[in-house]
Amino acid sequence: MAGNPRPVPRPDRDTAPFWSAHNEYRLIFQKCAKCGHVRYVVGPLCPKCHRFDFEWIDSAGRGAIYSFTTVRHQTHPAFPPPYTVVLVEMDEGPRIVAQLRAPEGAGFSIGSRVRIAWDDAESPALPVFELED
Ligand code: ZN
Repeated sequence: MAGNPRPVPRPDRDTAPFWSAHNEYRLIFQKCAKCGHVRYVVGPLCPKCHRFDFEWIDSAGRGAIYSFTTVRHQTHPAFPPPYTVVLVEMDEGPRIVAQLRAPEGAGFSIGSRVRIAWDDAESPALPVFELED
């Protein structure tokens, strides 16, 4: 979308690996080295035990719709409505927000299983979700 580029993230010391992984079609989470809590949004310390040590883990890219809404009013020129935004509880635990890419009239509800796909029209690639068969 040449005329209406989407807003892009500004990676910093903490988030650079997360955004770099997107261009390899990988969703990664931080896993606390002390308590094992898997967290998202990316941050410097564990919200459960306040330790700084962590490792990056790859998400399997699957989860269940926790909530959703369909956007019918344009809020940014790069995102023409209508489109559906889902809050997905990933199998690893974190909940992430992304668009649902589904055919018109596709049936889904809270709890429907989804898998990650990628919108790589611009960099970094962004996660989107598709309904599992
Ligand atoms: Zn922890």
